[in-house]
Amino acid sequence: ADVPDLIRKRASLAPADVALEEIESGRALTYGALDTRAARVAGLLAARGIRAGDRVATLCRNRIAFFELLFACAKLGAILVPLNWRMPPPELDLLLADCAPRLLFHDAEGAGPVAGLRHAPDGICLDSEYEAAVAAVSELDLRDSWPSESIWYLIYTSGTTGTPKAVIYTYGMAVANFVNIGTAIDIAGSDRTVNFLPNFHTAGINLHSLPTLIQGGRVLILPTFDAEQIVRLLEAERIDTFFAVPTVYQALLDHPRFAAVPLGRVRHWGCGGAPLPDRIALRCRDLGLRLCNGMGMTETGPTALLSSPAEAWERIGSVGRPQLLVRTRIVDADGNDVADGQVGELLFAGPAVTPGYWNDAVATRAAFTVDGWLRSGDLARRDADGFFHIAGRRKEMFISGGENVFPAEIESVLALHPTIAEAAVVPVPHELWGEVGIAFVLLAAGAVAPAKSELDDHCRARLAGYKVPKSFIFVADFPRTAAGKVQKHLLRAQGAPPGI
Ligand code: ATP
Ligand code: MG
Repeated sequence: ADVPDLIRKRASLAPADVALEEIESGRALTYGALDTRAARVAGLLAARGIRAGDRVATLCRNRIAFFELLFACAKLGAILVPLNWRMPPPELDLLLADCAPRLLFHDAEGAGPVAGLRHAPDGICLDSEYEAAVAAVSELDLRDSWPSESIWYLIYTSGTTGTPKAVIYTYGMAVANFVNIGTAIDIAGSDRTVNFLPNFHTAGINLHSLPTLIQGGRVLILPTFDAEQIVRLLEAERIDTFFAVPTVYQALLDHPRFAAVPLGRVRHWGCGGAPLPDRIALRCRDLGLRLCNGMGMTETGPTALLSSPAEAWERIGSVGRPQLLVRTRIVDADGNDVADGQVGELLFAGPAVTPGYWNDAVATRAAFTVDGWLRSGDLARRDADGFFHIAGRRKEMFISGGENVFPAEIESVLALHPTIAEAAVVPVPHELWGEVGIAFVLLAAGAVAPAKSELDDHCRARLAGYKVPKSFIFVADFPRTAAGKVQKHLLRAQGAPPGI
């Protein structure tokens, strides 16, 4: 069950089937061509001195060449490291120092940032140098088997809680991810999916691109998210399985033609990566779209928990249930399992979970219990029917007057107010209560800031008094990671506003 070998088998069984198709350029690559191109790119890597275990980095939007590099690395035993092209050079320098690639493939847009790097590895521009370089070498195919514990690629975490960490992805994890997602949504050889979430996050490669290739289906590629392009693909009924983060669904719902797209062809609308606001789930339901919320981490693969279309409308607010090869526990601060309905830290185990972080034994040790369970850092509860609910990050929970407060709950209540687009609640020290919450608020487009008393009333009608933020601070935007996630630790660092 070696994934690179499955691609080679597809190349001999159905060489003329299209594997990858770039929507904007119109270029397509068959399974036969994918295998020979990957062998050529492997020849190029070897000619540039890349050996088994060496890292090869990319800094590019999604494109066919990315997948050629992914399978070329497999043919050599090299390790692919996709880097986030939204990061400025100083952030990239930190990651490059960490993973130390010997070669960096970048697109034309990446040339500027690469020129700004302090420690740039050798570079090859995919738009101006790659084709000639590939044409100048011969094919190379060194491997017949891929031990499940050996490393295929590294994916950096989003950096929401600190510096991004390089998560190891092994060949075994690729198989386990395929089993998890493939069984959950029945990926078939006739399926088409669209690869537009960035390949430097786990969802880009693993939802559902690699599983679709394993089954012999077709991956449509957009360089990055573009609501108009997605709407056109939906209008043309070209998509069978679709996965996106909540902000992408928000952008699609705001697109003037989305409400009229035919929904029937898409078998599974997956969502995850960040809390799904009820507002988005309900708008989807109004359109007849069964939005299936799920939860994963870079460390667990993208779908540790997932809900099915049948459950989508009855279970709004839930992230579904554990996937086939995923084991879970929910534990208290002492590591003891909590009862159903109780909030605790969510732990994961199973073959889709990473063995650890690249070159960072300290972080790896801190992330796992002594008996090998991954600490997610997320708080969750399991309801009586076995469905999971995320209460927020452990680091974000605070205690006010002896009561646990989960900012995510308050944020979703605030987001129900018509003037509020998004809120972020963080604790500040308080003499009497220990800590109290304050809310940073982003207004909806064109909305006028409501009076504090109005927001107080809105919260008090829906939350216990100790959860109601003591102050509301209107901001133009939040500090965010390159993935768009709010960096709460930076909001916390601003400290208490006057009068708290
Ligand atoms: P870092 O680990 O660098 O601080 P990160 O945790 O945001 O960043 P990712 O691995 O991309 O990096 O994100 C995984 C996290 O995203 C989960 O641990 C969880 O907190 C959050 N998450 C994912 N899916 C959901 C969901 N459906 N609902 C709520 N939270 C989610
Ligand atoms: Mg994390």
